[in-house]
Amino acid sequence: MHTLILILSITVYLDGHIRPIPTTRLTIFVKEENKILAKTTTNSKGDFSLTFNSGSGKSSDFYYTGEGMDTLLLASIKQFENETPNITFSIPARRKKNAAGKVICPKCEKADHVKQLNTTRYYCEKDKVKF
Ligand SMILES: [Zn+2]
Repeated sequence: MHTLILILSITVYLDGHIRPIPTTRLTIFVKEENKILAKTTTNSKGDFSLTFNSGSGKSSDFYYTGEGMDTLLLASIKQFENETPNITFSIPARRKKNAAGKVICPKCEKADHVKQLNTTRYYCEKDKVKF
């Protein structure tokens, strides 16, 4: 008996927009299961495009960084609606809170492991991401 494992991989052509337009160019990269799939830089209008093969079945995690900046999680996307998503990301990211008013992690969507580092930064100890 063979077990058939079906892995659905799609090529994603993402058009991204950082709003408000950042004052410096940012490096944007996408990771799935801790592997960097693609990396790019925003243009002067805060726009970027990324092409990558999404196929891990896990979330696609978008990070951003810039000169003298921490690497922060921008968004964690579980599933793309189509192969050519057009997504506007806001920086700073809007904080989502749970019913108890605690900030939740964009990746695990729970507040359980989130620590506040300072007025604008949070860290999820489970996913080891700053956001
Ligand atoms: Zn988390």
